[in-house]
Amino acid sequence: QNRGKTSTSPGPETVKYFILSFRDLTEARRMDRMRTDFVANASHELRTPLASLMGFVETMQGPARGDLKAQERFLAIMLEQASRMARLIDDLLSLSRLEMRAHVPLRDTVDLGEVALHVVDALRPMAAEIGVEIALAGPDGDATVIGDRDELIQVLENLVENACKYGQSGGRVDVRIVAGGAGSSSGSTGPLVEVQDYGPGIERQHVPRLTERFYRADVGESRAKKGTGLGLAIVKHILTRHRARLIVRSEPGEGSTFAVRFPDANADTRPDAR
Ligand code: ADP
Repeated sequence: QNRGKTSTSPGPETVKYFILSFRDLTEARRMDRMRTDFVANASHELRTPLASLMGFVETMQGPARGDLKAQERFLAIMLEQASRMARLIDDLLSLSRLEMRAHVPLRDTVDLGEVALHVVDALRPMAAEIGVEIALAGPDGDATVIGDRDELIQVLENLVENACKYGQSGGRVDVRIVAGGAGSSSGSTGPLVEVQDYGPGIERQHVPRLTERFYRADVGESRAKKGTGLGLAIVKHILTRHRARLIVRSEPGEGSTFAVRFPDANADTRPDAR
């Protein structure tokens, strides 16, 4: 009851300190939470194929012992599960490498036309195998950006691979490189890369979440296609570092376009711009 007498009301210093540390704590907790979620998701994604592998080994040691035909079938599935684990680990390593390099400045002049040609040439055989033709158009002028060539190759690889994989039914993927230049309403613009497919498209509610780690739209359909749900998370990571934007346009039944808009180099005079 006599609290009023003994307690001193906190001075402004104390209050400031409290608020600061409270904010830091919330941010630290949020980061902590994100890390914990990520580790839990990654472990779960790895655990699933591993459990399947162990199950098949046990079956081969037990009920299927001596049944060569069954064993052959099981071995094919086991190889598929092991490949899935390898893909996951590769993507996790890519993400972690990107995080470690986040502060390495971007300095190379990268020709987006050359990058696209490289990626399209590399992916054509895989696409042909699933009945998809990849066409490359442009650039119609200067399409160079300051960046990291390997990272930009990875961006385009992921987008073109997705377009072939998920847009397979469309039979065709168009890759367009548009040079930067004088834009119509918004002044000058940086170069643009577009990857368009004519597959089933993506329902609107999934679009804002596509770049989340492990997010896969239409789980049943996506699971049938090989993937980890990390491809677009990697793309987003790299594009943020290049100050480029990912724009997704998709119409269910008609296909999707994933566009990357790079910043206009001329408009940017900040020395530490990345
Ligand atoms: P994944 O390894 O599953 O391909 P991504 O992060 O690359 O992971 O893509 C996330 C999800 O976005 C995919 O699982 C798929 O559902 C959807 N998606 C990506 N690209 C396309 C596309 N071109 N057409 C339809 N759906 C797509």
